[in-house]
Amino acid sequence: MGKVLIIGAGGVGTVVAHKIAQNPDVFTEIVLASRTQSKCDAIADAIGGNRIVTDRVDADKVEDLVSLFKKHKPDIVVNVALPYQDLTIMDACLHCGVNYLDTANYEPLDEAKYEYKWQWAYRERFEQAGLTAILGCGFDPGVSGVYTAYAAKHYFKEMQYLDIVDCNAGNHGMAFATNFNPEINIREVTQKGKYYENGKWIETEPHEIHRPLTYPNIGPKESYLIYHEELESLVKNYPTIKRARFWMTFGQEYLTHLRVIQNIGMARIDPIMYNGVEIVPIQFLKAVLPNPGDLGKNYTGETSIGCRIRGIGKDGKELTYYVYNNCSHHAAYLETGAQGVSYTTGVPAMIGAMMFLTGKWKKPGVYNVEEFDPDPFMEQLNKQGLPWHEVFNGDIEL
Ligand code: NDP
Repeated sequence: MGKVLIIGAGGVGTVVAHKIAQNPDVFTEIVLASRTQSKCDAIADAIGGNRIVTDRVDADKVEDLVSLFKKHKPDIVVNVALPYQDLTIMDACLHCGVNYLDTANYEPLDEAKYEYKWQWAYRERFEQAGLTAILGCGFDPGVSGVYTAYAAKHYFKEMQYLDIVDCNAGNHGMAFATNFNPEINIREVTQKGKYYENGKWIETEPHEIHRPLTYPNIGPKESYLIYHEELESLVKNYPTIKRARFWMTFGQEYLTHLRVIQNIGMARIDPIMYNGVEIVPIQFLKAVLPNPGDLGKNYTGETSIGCRIRGIGKDGKELTYYVYNNCSHHAAYLETGAQGVSYTTGVPAMIGAMMFLTGKWKKPGVYNVEEFDPDPFMEQLNKQGLPWHEVFNGDIEL
């Protein structure tokens, strides 16, 4: 049906490549390119069958990307490199007439902002070029938006309260490690908290608001209110929402390490001089922390991510609705060699590309996932390893 180019060969790229290779009817040709080609080769070897062509690219350079796109002529690029590369890859897509999908919004290197404004500014150019760009198609952002769209389509006349709840009850056995790219992860969780209420954004100190929430099959876990990028598009696309928040669980040990890292300046994202060389402390830290892609082997436990929504149902009565997925780290590892956080991101990225190539999510412009029909995506989640469950009118604690 179509040719896909995956950019990025980290934990998420590993899962995307495995899942794409499992769906040969849709993905007839696969190219995997990254900064370090040997990592692409290792993934292609692990998958086997000579199905994946590998290449090298510096995705910070539009001209490098343009020659890669001209060489391979993909129908869609799945960007699972880092958020810094989103705009260069979108520029190259426009230049070569290639469709686009990513899992994280653009971030300037020197500012942790988490705003869609830079990518939304491409809307007209993608429209005019007749190209589709699908933004934020991992789990959160990604499935969180699809769950919300599904709830709006099938159950709610008016959604009023949205809480996205993200629990990782896994144990990788390390004193401190991040579950995805350490630089991006630490930037995200050390920023101030922010949530939406009655038309306004309310800022909090980092990790100021927290409470125990109960997760299915896991039990109560302390959950912290943090800002997460999908809140921006969801409150825009569902204006009846009065309050939208995002909660993530962190262990005490993780938070203590994080506090020390911040206090000693290792989370800084501005360059400093060290022995006559300019380094960015958080990038140096990444180099000494465990590689998230290597955590899978001894990872036990599971993740549980979902949306808890309250409002007025289609029948005019009060409704609470909870939709979620639990994912086992070990099962993810046995299938793809990567842990559950990479798995829950990579599977939806593959499904998004599948939605595009099968014509179900194809419309010129730049869109967040909730702007497409959620039904075919939800159907694939059940088939591709991330089954979901629903609870109606249960106690959702929030
Ligand atoms: P990793 O750090 O494991 O992998 C990133 C990959 O991108 C590496 O292969 C890296 O190459 C490559 N890369 C980095 N810079 C460039 C460049 N300039 N040119 C080409 N390749 C480059 O990250 P993850 O796999 O953990 O995460 C990938 C993405 O997924 C991130 O954007 C992250 O924010 C997002 N994510 C989204 C989630 C969601 O639910 N929506 C959840 C988790 C992650 P090299 O190996 O040479 O460094």
